Amino acid sequence: MTYKSKFGFGCMRLPQTDANDPTKIDQELFNEMVDIYMEKGFNYFDTSYAYHNGTSEDAIRKAVVERYPRESFQICDKMPTWALTSEEDNEKYVNEMLERLGIDYFDVFFIHNINVPWLKLAEKCNTFEYLKKMKEEGTAKKIGFSFHDNAKLLKEVLDKYGDVLDVVQLELNYLDWEDPAIEAHKCYDLCVEHGIDVYVMEPLKGGVIVNLPESIQNDFKEFNPDKSIASFALRFCASLENVKIVLSGMNKMDDLIDNCNTFENFEVLSDEENEFLQKMALKLNEIVAVPCSECGYCIKACPEMIPIPEYFNLYNTSKIQPESNIYRLYFNKLGEEKVPADECTYCGTCLDHCTQQIDIPEELEKVCEHFEEGFTPYG
Ligand code: SF4
Ligand code: SF4
Repeated sequence: MTYKSKFGFGCMRLPQTDANDPTKIDQELFNEMVDIYMEKGFNYFDTSYAYHNGTSEDAIRKAVVERYPRESFQICDKMPTWALTSEEDNEKYVNEMLERLGIDYFDVFFIHNINVPWLKLAEKCNTFEYLKKMKEEGTAKKIGFSFHDNAKLLKEVLDKYGDVLDVVQLELNYLDWEDPAIEAHKCYDLCVEHGIDVYVMEPLKGGVIVNLPESIQNDFKEFNPDKSIASFALRFCASLENVKIVLSGMNKMDDLIDNCNTFENFEVLSDEENEFLQKMALKLNEIVAVPCSECGYCIKACPEMIPIPEYFNLYNTSKIQPESNIYRLYFNKLGEEKVPADECTYCGTCLDHCTQQIDIPEELEKVCEHFEEGFTPYG
């Protein structure tokens, strides 16, 4: 395995023709990005039943499956764990996913987002056994699960199922490496102990790591003006020996080119660079108000349809750049007839869906207080 082969194309945040409608994927641009990615010798695509409200798999079929020989690319897909109601659902969803993608086997297949409640669902529906059968029958070459919970739960799952699994997909980045809520370092070590490969999601934490406040951007420039901020984050993950894939979700051509350059000319992170990133993580953690990765899972779960990550994004931005016109943007959102943050009924439905263990209702309350206190009609 080379460092170059670790670069995976994450298909959760594809380019869109309408920013407000995740099903409107910009297929033309995505096709162009796929062509460049493949031409440069990369070949791994990660999707799920849920991404882009079920249209990410379609877009991959059109851009990859229908335009390249099957053996030239790898596809990873994920079971919609939250939607499982019976054992029969396993087969129903797998067949639907194969059909959406236009393939007859997955290179990698995961149970999506194991956490406490969804582990119960997967166990009730015998999904781990179903994945084992998929591998035996050749419907999946490698099997595992994606994970967004703490090291204690990961240990329980690996002790129970680790011997039949090949991979765990972890949220891992230099910001979450020692974060007590995410425990990325501990989770990585557990996978190593169990002899399980690690695939990395959110190496840029949904953009939090690249959309930095000016002071931190300046620190990066001073440290090394020739390397992009994203390249440091990707190299942090890919330099770990047990990490075999690092996904990057890209919706701009420039990001794709930058990431391709990082992996084509890969340099293992030095001790000095590692130390610098840990310093930046401490600095950034002090500034980021809500560690939302903007994955969007909570929006689908919220009965009030509150655009939760949009409000968290504005809140974070206003903490990072208090002098900006972000208050105005917040109130403009309400003018666009977005459901206001204060319509949260504290029902708690979103909590099981949050990949970052955020207490969403509590944080939404802070968002409302923050903007209402700070707003002046002339601001
Ligand atoms: S607690 Fe609030 S934000 Fe969460 S699902 Fe309920 S209404 Fe939506
Ligand atoms: S609040 Fe949680 S679930 Fe919602 S977008 Fe942010 S990280 Fe994802």
